Amino acid sequence: MLDLGENPETAFEEHRSVAALAEVLERHGIEAKVGVYGLETALRAELPALGEVPADGTAGTIRTVDTDGDEVPTPTLAVLAEYDALPGLGHACGHNTIAAMGLGAFLALAALRAEDPTAVPWRIVLLGTPAEEGHTGKEYMAREGAFDDIDMAVMAHGYGEDVADQLWIGRRTLTVSFHGHSAHASAQPFAGRNALDAASLFYQGLGLLRQQTPPGDRIHAIIRQGGEQASVIPSFAQLEVYVRSPAPVTLRDLSSRVEDVAHGAALMAGTGVTLAWDEHPPSLPVRSNQALTGSWVRAQRRRGREPLPRGVVSETIAASTDFGNVSYRIPGMHPLIQVSESDVALHTREFAAATTSRRGRNAVVDGAYGLAATLLDVQHDEALAAEVLAEFEAAGGALDVPGFFD
Ligand SMILES: [Zn+2]
Ligand SMILES: [Zn+2]
Repeated sequence: MLDLGENPETAFEEHRSVAALAEVLERHGIEAKVGVYGLETALRAELPALGEVPADGTAGTIRTVDTDGDEVPTPTLAVLAEYDALPGLGHACGHNTIAAMGLGAFLALAALRAEDPTAVPWRIVLLGTPAEEGHTGKEYMAREGAFDDIDMAVMAHGYGEDVADQLWIGRRTLTVSFHGHSAHASAQPFAGRNALDAASLFYQGLGLLRQQTPPGDRIHAIIRQGGEQASVIPSFAQLEVYVRSPAPVTLRDLSSRVEDVAHGAALMAGTGVTLAWDEHPPSLPVRSNQALTGSWVRAQRRRGREPLPRGVVSETIAASTDFGNVSYRIPGMHPLIQVSESDVALHTREFAAATTSRRGRNAVVDGAYGLAATLLDVQHDEALAAEVLAEFEAAGGALDVPGFFD
């Protein structure tokens, strides 16, 4: 963690970081594959299940014996490690601590397995997941099958408080291009169709739309292009828009309302309009599994921490994470662990400094313990494992993430 803290690498460039993780695993006699699921800086390492039975794509069934008494594939649990930094700010989101917590939990389970194989009966996978900041690395990996054989996934994120469960909202991006006709702005303005007018109407329209959207929704936009010269009616204007919402279905609704505003603006200005959604795959909101989170909270209490329940930290403080895309495929949790003083915000130099402080290092130990303890609870408490799955199904089960917004 300290090594990553001193050598931050940004999205898709985490070559040194992933090599550092692989090297630590190798020192513990565990082979790691680097460059998996379509990303050069992704990693997968595995502890095979006790009495290994090959997976056959039945992810989601947590049983080792079916109702006829026949053996079915052993479940697979994943712990995730992020390690990308922010441009110019280093590890201001603390992904170096995420890597260390994930690696620590995985190595703890490996050590326990070596001591007593029955203590860790299921297959355990460590997935190194690059490019969270500004991208959706986990979605790219998921589309290449990274989570197809995984039944549950856990990770923890650093923060200024211990929080069991926090709102993480979904995010989509939209590029809106207005196509008009240029004309001399003084001699023959009536011969033109002003793309900047359309862009301006669209921008104002978004502002007015905000009053009619729920408090959890977010819309923010910039005008990228608005003409070349004031004496020419602009024939082209372009905006970049982010829309965010707390649920996939409300994010889809908001997307369509934003589209309507764009079409309305084009109609008023007499221009054409083209819409391009999701240059990068969207982030979904996080669907936290409360059964898993409960196990995490019990483990944190044993470490002297008292994670706050959902709703204590203002839900207006809401960002997005690509873990959401995992959490709508399989049950997962993404709790927050206190790494810094509570008045230090994520994405600041102060938070980056906190990740390698004594408090940051203690958080890594407690976080690794919490992740390992949660994965052990699930393996040994049949009722808990059943509850995790039942809760996931009750919340709607697995979503077709790539097809959801089509
Ligand atoms: Zn971040
Ligand atoms: Zn982060």
